[in-house]
Amino acid sequence: QAKAAGRNAYRLYAPDMNVQARDRMVLESDMRRGLQRDEFVLHYQPQIDVASGQIIGAEALLRWQHPGSGMISPTTFLPLAEENGLIVPINEWVLREACGRAAEFTRSGLPPLRVAVNLSPVQFRKQDVCQLVIDILNDTKLNPRQLELELTESILMQNTEAVARDLLKLKDLGVSFSIDDFGTGYSSLSYIRNFPVDRLKIDQCFIRNLENNPSDAAIVRAIISLGHSLKLCITAEGVETAEQAAILRAEGCDEFQGYYFGRPMPLEDLLARVEEQNPRSLRA
Ligand code: C2E
Ligand code: MG
Ligand code: MG
Ligand code: MG
Repeated sequence: QAKAAGRNAYRLYAPDMNVQARDRMVLESDMRRGLQRDEFVLHYQPQIDVASGQIIGAEALLRWQHPGSGMISPTTFLPLAEENGLIVPINEWVLREACGRAAEFTRSGLPPLRVAVNLSPVQFRKQDVCQLVIDILNDTKLNPRQLELELTESILMQNTEAVARDLLKLKDLGVSFSIDDFGTGYSSLSYIRNFPVDRLKIDQCFIRNLENNPSDAAIVRAIISLGHSLKLCITAEGVETAEQAAILRAEGCDEFQGYYFGRPMPLEDLLARVEEQNPRSLRA
């Protein structure tokens, strides 16, 4: 039994493995229970404005504090949650938690950081994402300008008209949108002009060997130039070294996200870093 097997039990559920039906049922019921018992937490990874060097936002990343297996990564359980539909209540929780906490710390006098939340293609098939976001913004009183929704290329390729309508409605409220893992999905760019996208997040696979690989450097340069000519902001993901940051800055990248600037961390740690860069005495 997975739970009794302890720490490494969930290695079984690596997404590329053929998970046995019984194991899937155990993981599924664990996930339901985890949701009821508040076992999910969000970590926040800082996003740095290249020009000022300041933290101007954070991406909310899901973690599962499993009682028997410790901290479980989203890449381990989200694929199954997408198959069995649990992604819907899980991501509802993520949105509500991220928006609620952001509204709370802004009320407490911290600067209005942007918070980015990942959406799944399954949500767009199974629920009214637009109404959900509107309800959560109303309930939490978060300024919609502080919310960014991260979309994947696969969301934009499916069911285009309905998705475009939803995104436009949210855009009117002030919500912004980014395309996550840009460059790894379908290479059709037509969706960029059909959707109200604000930002491209260059996938970390193009950043990893940026210093040594001329093709990666060329791709990064092309994405930045394409994005800027479409008036989009560019964030580089997975920035791990000072050299990568220097190259990206020279190429005109707008924001950095990556271990070099901070790993995903508990909200308290992120807020402590924001406090450091905006001492209370300097705040309005
Ligand atoms: P993503 O949205 O592309 O998130 C970035 C991932 O890259 C995160 O992994 C982050 O920890 C990792 N990362 C950030 N900087 C670096 C770096 O410098 N080097 C390296 N090697 N990795 C870095 P994480 O947290 O494991 O999340 C993985 C994926 O799971 C996310 O990719 C996203 O697609 C998905 N995910 C996470 N939370 C949620 C959620 O609440 N809802 C949905 N639908 N998906 C989520
Ligand atoms: Mg993301
Ligand atoms: Mg990404
Ligand atoms: Mg990713």
